Amino acid sequence: MGAINIEEERDDYNHNNALNFDKQQWNGLLEQVKQAALSYLLQMDKQPVCVDPALPLPQKTGLSQKGLGTENVLKLFKETWTPHLVGSSGPRYVGFVTGGVTPAALAGDWLTSVWDQNTQAVSGQGDVSARLEMATVDLLKELLHLPEDFMGGFVTGATMSNFTCLGTARQWWGAQKGLNIALDGLKENIPVLSATAHSSSIKCLSMLGIGSANLTMVKMSENDREIMDMRDLSQKIISLKGAPFILISSAGTVNTVDFDDFKAIGALKKKFNFWWHVDGAFGGFAACSSAYQHLVAGWEEADSITVDGHKWLNVPYDSGIFFIRKKHHLSAYNTFRNSNAPYLGEIDNDTLLDKMNYLNFLPENSRRFRALPAWFSLMSYGKEGYRQIVENSVERARELSDWIETQPMLRLVAPTRLNNICFTLKDGAPLAVDRFLYKLNSEGDVFMSPTVYKGKKAIRASFVNWQTSRADIRRIEKVIARTLDQL
Ligand SMILES: *Cc1c(COP(=O)(O)O)cnc(C)c1O
Repeated sequence: MGAINIEEERDDYNHNNALNFDKQQWNGLLEQVKQAALSYLLQMDKQPVCVDPALPLPQKTGLSQKGLGTENVLKLFKETWTPHLVGSSGPRYVGFVTGGVTPAALAGDWLTSVWDQNTQAVSGQGDVSARLEMATVDLLKELLHLPEDFMGGFVTGATMSNFTCLGTARQWWGAQKGLNIALDGLKENIPVLSATAHSSSIKCLSMLGIGSANLTMVKMSENDREIMDMRDLSQKIISLKGAPFILISSAGTVNTVDFDDFKAIGALKKKFNFWWHVDGAFGGFAACSSAYQHLVAGWEEADSITVDGHKWLNVPYDSGIFFIRKKHHLSAYNTFRNSNAPYLGEIDNDTLLDKMNYLNFLPENSRRFRALPAWFSLMSYGKEGYRQIVENSVERARELSDWIETQPMLRLVAPTRLNNICFTLKDGAPLAVDRFLYKLNSEGDVFMSPTVYKGKKAIRASFVNWQTSRADIRRIEKVIARTLDQL
């Protein structure tokens, strides 16, 4: 295909500009976008999951004077950028915790942009998309067996969900001491306790002015678990002498998917005054299967919970959900409300949840209609669909884990508890592990990511994609074996 001259003047614009030209061909344009989408979706198996280091990176172009029009830009994108994109929404991208996109979620996501609502007031005159968002939060509560008395909403991801929850916790903590931190700022250290807080929660402590260095680390349990030691937690609580504090617990740690003892934390909550946050970004979805639901038993007593949409729910990126107990809604409101902005509407309504306006309950003001992909997917596949996605992921992880145990050169660094595997080279120096992972990924058949577990360099594979099949696991085993042969 010939190179596109970005300064070429288009005759067919006549006296129109590129925008008017495009406006007259919605149908043709969307047809081409559909074809571009299908050429990825139907060939996902052939799409490498790792950037090809041999391909020279695309050169950036300047901004054209008159504009190229969408059709040309689509061609330009296909020629220059598409060859560099990786199949990260496909079945063998198991680095980090990377979900995929169900067909229904894709439909919802496309229509989110088509409608482009600014999702705000539940009882808004200008827009009702917030009602669908609330309805979607209710569907999620059903899916995850969470009680009715949680309110919730959509943010960009689990990081912002943790931020929303911990921001509200900060305000609650102030209120315990007669302080209004949102108004007056933070003047004292807030005690925050955790053993396995995800890096995003620690980043939230930085962003919230609580200070990441002020996190008190609770000891980890001494057996092969990746959870907080309840005895150490109790001692740390006792040494606070009754002062209120914030506890961050984990429903699914990123290395070994371990779950804190929620029943025991719930029992402590009856005796001590603290805000209990659960980060269940992906592990919370254990609740979808009766086989794994026990892992989160008791989490429903928490004050706030984070889950991610773009991981095990398999909706596209830009989707995290927070749940906060309804009784704390004023703490959320006092943290995130827009004061001094009469143009945003009557804020007193927000003290009534059924008239709430999302822009006074979370960090963002203007907001994408983020719930729609989740609503489409939840309605399309229901409880059974999500049970199958979760159970399939766990089975696939077990298969690969069992195979790794048969390999003389490999060893698991932790038992495979749910959907993540954490393994390393049996006699591998850290550099050899790095080299192995680099080679493995460069084949383009599988993508895994590095970690350090209990001081040991290791490799993680996390299964949360709805499409991963047995055949994918066989293919992953083959590429691992091939890579080991080449070491
Ligand atoms: C992924 C993850 C996060 C961060 O989520 P983002 O969606 O990347 O912002 C937080 N906590 C846990 C346990 C996670 O797995």
